[in-house]
Amino acid sequence: MKLTGVGASEGVAVGPAFVPATGRPEPERTSISEGEVDQELQRFRGAVEAVVGKISQTIDALRTSGDEDEAGIFEFHVEMAEDPELASAVGGRVKNLQSPEAAVLAAGEEYAADFAAMDDEYMSARADDVRDVTGQISAELMGLATSGFEALQVPSVVLAQSLAPSDTARIPKGMALAFVTAEGSRTSHVSIMARSMGIPAVVGVGPNLEEALGAKSVAVDGDNGSAITDPDEDTLARFERASEDLAEERAALDEYRHVEASTSDGRRIEVAANLGSASEAEDALEWGAEGVGLFRTEFLFMQRDELPSEDEQYEAYSAVARTFGDRPVIVRTLDVGGDKNLPGIDQIHEDNPFLGWRGIRMSLDTPRLFKPQLRAILRAAARGNVRVMFPMVADVGELRAAKQMLQEVREELEAEGTEIGEVETGVMIETPAAAVCAIELAKESAFFSVGTNDLVQYTLAADRGNERLRRLQSADHPAVLALIRQTCEAAGGAGIPVGVCGEAAGEPAMIPKLVALGVTELSMGAPAIPRAKKVVSEI
Ligand code: PEP
Ligand code: MG
Repeated sequence: MKLTGVGASEGVAVGPAFVPATGRPEPERTSISEGEVDQELQRFRGAVEAVVGKISQTIDALRTSGDEDEAGIFEFHVEMAEDPELASAVGGRVKNLQSPEAAVLAAGEEYAADFAAMDDEYMSARADDVRDVTGQISAELMGLATSGFEALQVPSVVLAQSLAPSDTARIPKGMALAFVTAEGSRTSHVSIMARSMGIPAVVGVGPNLEEALGAKSVAVDGDNGSAITDPDEDTLARFERASEDLAEERAALDEYRHVEASTSDGRRIEVAANLGSASEAEDALEWGAEGVGLFRTEFLFMQRDELPSEDEQYEAYSAVARTFGDRPVIVRTLDVGGDKNLPGIDQIHEDNPFLGWRGIRMSLDTPRLFKPQLRAILRAAARGNVRVMFPMVADVGELRAAKQMLQEVREELEAEGTEIGEVETGVMIETPAAAVCAIELAKESAFFSVGTNDLVQYTLAADRGNERLRRLQSADHPAVLALIRQTCEAAGGAGIPVGVCGEAAGEPAMIPKLVALGVTELSMGAPAIPRAKKVVSEI
């Protein structure tokens, strides 16, 4: 069958389908009849065995690749699945005529609550493991996919309802050939990730995805936004040709990788990379990045169960700074909330998370998060040309508070005698309020970077991940362009530069418009850099 959605990351790919089990399964039945008890108990034991078998395969694979720590976590999953107390709790519930798929979830929830209540941070974090394992057993009982991303060991096309940043972060390197999701738009994080990984993505295919979940293989066309399940010979041949054409096109762009792009009237436009992790830095240089226009630090916080220490953050930021040498590296402080949740931080339920406690709002309220990050950034600044940038700023008061915290941390580090470097401080212009207050913000900032992904969603009141709102998900809208113009004028008045680090920066049709408005730096997923330089050179 053919699925149609948004081509969110270019390229074509064909490979086996992989459907991750994300979230908690919904029990199909909650109760059973008296006559079914024995048979259901037997099915429960079979499901435990099957899940243990799958987890054991993952453990073996992790051991083979030397990943002992991860393997240890999965050992715990096995222990949990085989725990006699869990078996007896489920047994009791099934004898009371609860379905085993519901019983194992309910018993798991009780266990998880016990773990969560423990004082020891490590033990309380195990609550999620318990939920994970009992969720897998329940899914197994219902014949649903049970493997998490850790089980992805063959390069595959990932099919999912949606993919949160914490999901994509868990995919083993090189194992995703393409993404196909029911939800999402060009600026959803799954699309951003696909573009920086250089793999095709088709998002927003809607409810039809359900029917495709049983496919064995999938051919994905990220240019025209379609995916074909179980492709026939003709389709495969067509995809092979498309893949060759793409390789040729990319080769033709190679000559632009390392040019310094200027418009024909001599305006120099810096083309930089957006990074999600330090490991992307070398590749970004190879694509021709002249700096890092946006280092999204939140991924460092999301790939794990506990928060990264100051030292770990320092290692990551300074590794990128060293790789880029004199070239600027803009480290954006933590931007969680919205569709990005953080393990270890109590994020209460919000009806409108994109309008909620995210970005600089959360950082200012949580010094135990913000201060170690600022310390790590100042320390990394001694290793290269590091700048700091605050996300989701809505007024000058937030900027001042953030700069005040930066100053406090600087004084602490100086008093300790720790080596630090100078950092310029910039603001993301991604709320309409920031664009409207740009004159005030410009007086106290060293640079601006326009986050068009959020600026579009907040200006047009259109959720960036909602596939029904495609018409309203482009920066090419008079209201958004007016705000960018206002931002550039304010920056021009204060003599500070304006970059764009939202996805519009890498879109060939948008580049001439942004440059005409006064933008002098464009930052994007690294594989898009050579084409952006070509587009700039042709203006
Ligand atoms: C943006 O909003 O344009 C941006 C670059 O930030 P993020 O996509 O991480 O929200
Ligand atoms: Mg943003």
